[in-house]
Amino acid sequence: MTKRALVTGITGQDGAYLSQFLLEKGYEVHGVVRRSSHRGVEDHRLRWLGVNGKVHLHDADLIDLSSLLRTVEEVRPDEIYNLAAQSYVASSWRQPVLTANVTAVGVTNMLEAMRLGAPGARFYQASSSEMYGLIQEPMQSEKTPFYPRSPYAVAKLYGHWITVNYRESFGLHASSGILFNHESPLRGVEFVTRKVTRGVAEIKLGRGHELRLGNIDAKRDWGHAKDYVRAMWLMLQQEKPDDYVIATGVTTTVRDMCKIAFDHAGLDMDKHLVIDPAFYRPAEVDVLLGDSSKARRVLGWQPKIDLEQMIREMVDADLERLRHEA
Ligand code: NDP
Ligand code: GDP
Repeated sequence: MTKRALVTGITGQDGAYLSQFLLEKGYEVHGVVRRSSHRGVEDHRLRWLGVNGKVHLHDADLIDLSSLLRTVEEVRPDEIYNLAAQSYVASSWRQPVLTANVTAVGVTNMLEAMRLGAPGARFYQASSSEMYGLIQEPMQSEKTPFYPRSPYAVAKLYGHWITVNYRESFGLHASSGILFNHESPLRGVEFVTRKVTRGVAEIKLGRGHELRLGNIDAKRDWGHAKDYVRAMWLMLQQEKPDDYVIATGVTTTVRDMCKIAFDHAGLDMDKHLVIDPAFYRPAEVDVLLGDSSKARRVLGWQPKIDLEQMIREMVDADLERLRHEA
């Protein structure tokens, strides 16, 4: 029997890689797409991976419960991956109410749609290491207390706990993956890794001279999205739903990540990097470092791609894109 998956956020970075992964496993893949006037460009990530014609897209929005319920009833999914969110931390201070509606209450909408329309399905919630915020332990595991530091992180914390609550209240097979930062050539250009790799590619091709960043002392535990979507799937293959941290266990400053990109392009970082306080945040998450030993033990998961490999892949992809745009 072919398994059916429903992916919210299918047009995002993780949605695209997860679709590719599930198609390779023989799944029928359905995705939720919110209506916009840009029809034809919203699936650019799916096109980049060559899977755009192979997935079924449904008009729905995370803040519109009836649209989600209708989609669940049409698709009758075996697995639901709830990846949709207002996912950018910096924007969450500028749009805090929207962030709460989509990233927090939207999770309840999706869980309700599943409870009413497909209670036997398995559910994955995209939780985030940002929930640890002002870290309470040097390495963060499933047992580490949370201390969110942005409207985004507060919203994600709600999403996490409502998933746990629906599991405990209604016996749903609902799991929450606490994923640390993960990137790829398909990462949004506003996030720091992609901003760096695109900026470096522009400088290399003579289309820019400087790269303006905020707090380059911040440290993140960065992995590759391709490795992380595999962990999402593994969680839903377990007999019992649970929560898992997914991380590499290595933390790196923004400065050192940036250096990898400049070095790969044969450029001197000190000649091009400018610190611009406009990119500082009202409250910062200084350092994140994940302990994913539970996922490694129970799921048999481990990352295959390290930061250096990933940043090089991203710089090369941005150089290729920019050459095509010429
Ligand atoms: P992206 O920002 O690339 O993708 C977000 C997706 O959500 C897009 O498809 C977007 O659609 C969709 N979306 C936004 N608002 C709505 C809405 N109201 N209704 C329906 N869909 C909506 O994020 P990523 O792929 O990087 O991340 C996937 C999930 O994992 C997110 O929930 C994110 O917060 C979480 N996460 C990500 C981490 C990371 O490092 N990447 C770390 C931890 C958690 P559109 O294309 O129309 O904008
Ligand atoms: P986040 O961890 O989800 O907030 O992912 P980001 O990639 O947006 O940011 C990672 C870290 O890089 C944060 O600590 C930011 O403050 C820091 N940073 C420094 N300069 C920049 C910048 O210009 N843009 C972004 N997005 N982040 C920056």
